[in-house]
Amino acid sequence: MKNTIAIVGRPNVGKSTLFNRLVGQRKAIMDNESGVTRDRHYGYGDWTGKYFTVIDTGGYVHNSDDIFEGEINKQVKLAIDEADVVLFMVDADTGVHHLDEEFASVLRRYQGKKPIYIIANKADTNARAHASGEFYTLGVGDGEIFPISSQSGSGTGDLLDAVVSHFEEEGVEEPDLGIPKIAVVGRPNVGKSSFVNLLLGTDRSIVTDIAGTTRDSIQARYNAFGKEFMLVDTAGLRRKTKVHEDVEFYSVLRSIRALEEADICVVMLDATRGIEAQDVNIIGLADKNRKGIVILVNKWDLIENKETNTAKEFEAKIMEKIAPIAYPPVIFVSVLTKQRVHKAIETAIEVYENKRRKIPTSELNEVMLKEIEKYPPPIQKGKLVRIKYVTQLPTHNPVFAFFCNLPQYVKESYTRYLENRLREKFDFTGVPIGIVFRKK
Ligand code: GDP
Ligand code: GDP
Repeated sequence: MKNTIAIVGRPNVGKSTLFNRLVGQRKAIMDNESGVTRDRHYGYGDWTGKYFTVIDTGGYVHNSDDIFEGEINKQVKLAIDEADVVLFMVDADTGVHHLDEEFASVLRRYQGKKPIYIIANKADTNARAHASGEFYTLGVGDGEIFPISSQSGSGTGDLLDAVVSHFEEEGVEEPDLGIPKIAVVGRPNVGKSSFVNLLLGTDRSIVTDIAGTTRDSIQARYNAFGKEFMLVDTAGLRRKTKVHEDVEFYSVLRSIRALEEADICVVMLDATRGIEAQDVNIIGLADKNRKGIVILVNKWDLIENKETNTAKEFEAKIMEKIAPIAYPPVIFVSVLTKQRVHKAIETAIEVYENKRRKIPTSELNEVMLKEIEKYPPPIQKGKLVRIKYVTQLPTHNPVFAFFCNLPQYVKESYTRYLENRLREKFDFTGVPIGIVFRKK
């Protein structure tokens, strides 16, 4: 990614406060759109027309006062690998700390490779700002120390002027926009890690890979089978828990977390076990959160004596269990033999495209008013509902507003009729769609 700033430093100096200030408005907006609040450690900001990405490296490591050398190395390496400018944050209130010295000695190895600035945070008063000269003794950085207050924002303008002077390009406002975020969820042992590893093994190209860290979920951008996507990977995919009783619980918890951050939820089942109650719950949750859904029935290689109807019957059983949810595509795969794995990823990306589909109002009315004429809303308590027109709302998920005289008299069964016609006429495979009635 272009124009990346990384913040490093010991715990409690104010890294996440600065991070939040830099990504400020933008982050709030992103979180509102998805309807979840999340603890992100990278985000986007802009200054004087230049867009940038910020990484709070502290968020990716074990971050407490008993910080170890390994963590310092990890933070610094992450910053040097990913960033164009490194901000080394210290605390102007407490002065030089022995951990600052340890950070400095690791950072010194990379001196000259990337611009490194010392940020003396908590310089809330002039006296503290003046005293920040003491950090020269750390012997790292490009000669200048920036006293700032992340809390009030003072000094951050000068700092950003210096930082963006290293960026030649204007950058991209939202680099991840339009790239599907996929979460692979499911019960233990269905084959999730095998699937993810298979994807990673092919033509791998990672933009942000932050491996082996303690975050709950990690987002990495990949290129596999000619498609670009982000995997909302959960730490647990890599690190198996040892306590048997906890496996189930943590797998559900992880699935929920991953699901919240994703656009598309790939629910993996084991063909030898079929669909279980927990899978049904996860699918219900994905539907409620308006995520795209793809169901993968893995280990299809283990099903013997397959006949032409085996897959069909299997699919019918799944659909029966998840009813009234009827839109997810079901794909029978074998991660072991790689059967239809390509198709699985292709489908996930198609579902993402369906999720972003916008139907022009004229086309929508032309098609749907005809269907409504064919079967108008039945009369309720002597009330005749007349639907005048329909439009797709400018939301992130497909939601259709039907304007009519008496919105409160439309029955659930009629809503289903409209949904079915919409799905028949336009491709919304794998995507929950919303239908609302508005008074006109
Ligand atoms: P991190 O562990 O480095 O990410 O540090 P945090 O951002 O969590 O901040 C640690 C503490 O310092 C919090 O209580 C912040 O409110 C406080 N803090 C952060 N920036 C400032 C500042 O500019 N001035 C003062 N006085 N406190 C600050
Ligand atoms: P996870 O717990 O969901 O991440 O599952 P794993 O990826 O660890 O897989 C659990 C077990 O199922 C491992 O022994 C895999 O080798 C095996 N497995 C995964 N995919 C397949 C498959 O398509 N066919 C068969 N026969 N076994 C598989």
